[in-house]
Amino acid sequence: MGSSTHYRRILLKLSGEALMGSADYGIDPTVIGRLADEILEIQKEGVQIGVVIGGGNIFRGAGLQANGMDRVTGDHMGMLATVMNALAMQDALEKRGGEARVMSALPIHDVCEDFIRRRAIRHIEKGRVALFAAGTGNPFFTTDSAAALRAIEIGADLLLKATKVDGIYSADPARHADAKRYDHLTYDQVIERKLAVMDTAAIALCRDQRLPMRIYDMGVADNLKRIIRGEAIGTLVDP
Ligand code: UDP
Repeated sequence: MGSSTHYRRILLKLSGEALMGSADYGIDPTVIGRLADEILEIQKEGVQIGVVIGGGNIFRGAGLQANGMDRVTGDHMGMLATVMNALAMQDALEKRGGEARVMSALPIHDVCEDFIRRRAIRHIEKGRVALFAAGTGNPFFTTDSAAALRAIEIGADLLLKATKVDGIYSADPARHADAKRYDHLTYDQVIERKLAVMDTAAIALCRDQRLPMRIYDMGVADNLKRIIRGEAIGTLVDP
């Protein structure tokens, strides 16, 4: 593998919605294929990769609760949705000649491995993409918290959050024409200004463990590759 990258190891957070494409539910094979291509492309440059995938394209516990379901059961369904997304990503990576392993926070032995930290690090060191599924394994958390947690556990240099906008804004840019885009923020500024970036538990974990995070637009080709090479794309949040 080459060594042109700025980072040795990253954790990429993809929301479930990132997999939907223009649909309003489920997984778009073209979209997941493009994401898999991008992941394998940066891996060729020498970076080790862990991925956390959300489940919001299928189920979210809070949404199920709003429709009358018990919250914990809804969260279990949400976590299982992330396992489905991770399996689809594993398949897309393998179809392209990559190696990948789904590791779940909930044991589902006929389907995938358990998350075991040392084994996860071994996979990524061997050039496999580790796909961390089922969030943290606990209800009332999100996959943003899982991304922060796994990034810290595997010793990632950077947490990358792929979104549909090109960084963090002072207000929703779709509704406020005068919204200001930030190149750089501290975690305390994100919390004080109540910027909708990630849930506060995830932000606090990154801040306390001094893990930098970059938010970028996944819709722009080559953004991921350029970030890995050290370009300042999107918004950097650091301690
Ligand atoms: N979830 C959970 N615990 C976790 C992570 C996720 O209970 O540690 C559940 C929760 O119901 C959540 C759903 O899984 O709504 C899908 O995750 P998330 O909403 O974070 O997905 P995303 O918004 O990234 O697609």
